Amino acid sequence: MQLIFEKSVKGRKGLKLPNCTVNPDIEFPKKYLRAKDVELPEVSELDVVRHYTNLSKLNFSVDSNFYPLGSCTMKYNPKFTEKIAALDGFLDLHPLMPQLRGGGMLAQGSLEVVYKIERLLSEITGMDAFTMQPLAGAHGELTGVMIIAAYHRYQGQQRKYIIVPDSSHGTNPASAAIAGYEVIIVPTDENGCMDINEFKNKLSEDVAGIMLTCPNTLGIYNSQIKSICDAAHEVGALVYYDGANLNAILGKSRPGDLGFDIVHLNLHKTFATPHGGGGPGAGPVGVIKKLKDFLPISRVKMRTDGTYALDYDKPKSLGFIAPFCGNFGVILKSYAYIMLLGKSGLIAVAERAVLNANYCRVLLKKYFSIPYDRMCMHEFVISAQLQKEKGISALDIAKYLISKGIHPPTIYFPLIVKEAMMIEPTETESKETLDNFIELMIEAAKLCDSDPQKLHDAPDNMPVKRLDETKAARDLNLRWQKS
Ligand SMILES: *Cc1c(COP(=O)(O)O)cnc(C)c1O
Repeated sequence: MQLIFEKSVKGRKGLKLPNCTVNPDIEFPKKYLRAKDVELPEVSELDVVRHYTNLSKLNFSVDSNFYPLGSCTMKYNPKFTEKIAALDGFLDLHPLMPQLRGGGMLAQGSLEVVYKIERLLSEITGMDAFTMQPLAGAHGELTGVMIIAAYHRYQGQQRKYIIVPDSSHGTNPASAAIAGYEVIIVPTDENGCMDINEFKNKLSEDVAGIMLTCPNTLGIYNSQIKSICDAAHEVGALVYYDGANLNAILGKSRPGDLGFDIVHLNLHKTFATPHGGGGPGAGPVGVIKKLKDFLPISRVKMRTDGTYALDYDKPKSLGFIAPFCGNFGVILKSYAYIMLLGKSGLIAVAERAVLNANYCRVLLKKYFSIPYDRMCMHEFVISAQLQKEKGISALDIAKYLISKGIHPPTIYFPLIVKEAMMIEPTETESKETLDNFIELMIEAAKLCDSDPQKLHDAPDNMPVKRLDETKAARDLNLRWQKS
């Protein structure tokens, strides 16, 4: 026991080994003891390295391929933040440490990180306070809608509805429904924005809040945001900003200045932490002053002597939404990223994200229909409707991109665009990468006439040509067969 433990911590500086030898006086009952040694596979390091390297090559990832997956912001995640998150002082910290008597001093650095990133995100978004706890974007939305509910409850009001536009990310109506609200959906107008007249018709004193993504999932910035917020406030409703894709407006505009009351951010999109197979992510939530008391506990506070502590004394708080401080490693990486880029770096992020998206949009519009063709923000949506008339679907084009080493854009979303392909190049890609992508998209458009079968047969470089996705989900077979 001692030996194994010693091995695993060897090399970590400053760590004292606790005394953890097994008491020799304890006799284990015979029935629990093995009669013979466990048969563990004996393989060489080289075999292990090859096994895992080959497994890793079965994946598409941002480290190996371009990934213009609209709405998901699959951008490069700097490796230096991984190093910072792996520092012993952070990595070895037990989450209960701050609550142990005297232990608070050992956790000061981590508490400071949480405190400071909350201040930075408040400044970036124009909010008054943030909670770092929610573990994903959707979890942040749920927290935000629960704050809306707590606020109205505190006012002695029982409101019934949350309004969302029909272009909204599916998690918006889902979060509202899980928090107990009925969802009212408002259609999109010909400019690609929520229809403001329809919206005003739906507003009443029964509406608890409205959830908006801006720029929305069509990549379009709604210039009427301020009057939408004003109209909502007039009937006492709160306005929620889905800031999953804040990279489009970083340092350019702040939801708080526009009149939003609650914001959630996706650190795993805007602030350069990996999505990693569905997690771990972080969906911190920011609020304006009058909602501050409803934020989940615990809160990190600064004492008068400049030290930090966890504060649970918040009677109006909606309670626990996640253990401890949320996904601390993710928070730490984002903090490092923000500190590295600084103000001018974050502004450059927004400018590059928007420039890259518009560059692709303009070069593709001769070949694809673009239903809402105006200056876009960080992403834009094309339609393969013209290609569909020739028998080629968005799915065929997506599969063709796979055979060319590019992860397809998000397809068939948002639902309001037929044969949608939602493209987000992100701010971290080079002109060469974008040009290659554009060239392949144009090639696909041309193949619709010259060799449509090639698109139907794509991808041609995978063990299985066209996976039956429904069958794959229902009848999962994880055994890898070498072809
Ligand atoms: C990604 C995304 C979400 C949900 O975030 P998750 O971390 O995947 O739960 C919500 N809204 C928008 C606009 C998004 O792009």
